[in-house]
Amino acid sequence: MKMCNVRQFFKQFPDDEACLLHLFDVRFGQGHDCPKCKREAKWYPLTNEKAYSCQWCGHHIHPMVDTIFEKSRTPLQLWFYAIFLFTTSKHGVSGKELQRQLGVTYKTAWRMAALIREHMAAIDGEAPLGGEGKIVEVDETYVGGKTEGRDWRARKTVVMGMIERGGDAMLKVVPDQKRGSLMPVIRENVAGGTEIHTDELSAYKKAIRWNAMDTRP
Ligand SMILES: [Zn+2]
Repeated sequence: MKMCNVRQFFKQFPDDEACLLHLFDVRFGQGHDCPKCKREAKWYPLTNEKAYSCQWCGHHIHPMVDTIFEKSRTPLQLWFYAIFLFTTSKHGVSGKELQRQLGVTYKTAWRMAALIREHMAAIDGEAPLGGEGKIVEVDETYVGGKTEGRDWRARKTVVMGMIERGGDAMLKVVPDQKRGSLMPVIRENVAGGTEIHTDELSAYKKAIRWNAMDTRP
């Protein structure tokens, strides 16, 4: 999720369809090989199902399957907003806070918070993302603090997102976007030989070069 504040969140994720598309793009992407007919395919959203359909054979991909959203009746946009709150809060989010912010029951809020925490913990300290022939997309965003004044950057936290194509995602808080802050995070969490995609920072471009030189098994 590439965003800084609530306004940008709702611009990027105005409804459930936008959230489902994001989930599809992150996990599969246009051009993803169809698991059934094995062809490189364009994928079209279905109107009556939370799924995408192969242009060739009509096979369906359900982006929510095998995610924490799978068995939930809570709208996807609320889930995304809950995750947004988690990633933009330095001290975590309580079930009560989530209940208040989302307007859901405490039971629902508690369950969502537990799943999000569990998922974030599972990602932390696990096997690195990527590997030989895999693609990891890296992006960063500033969150928190006011945006006025010359030193506003200094008062913000940088959240760095790393998403493996067709795989897992990882969110890390880093103190700033300098190369010295980002490099160790990439080094620690992305396997050598990974192709790193990013559209922004020169610090990452140097990191990519580091990654290409990496000879770890
Ligand atoms: Zn197909």
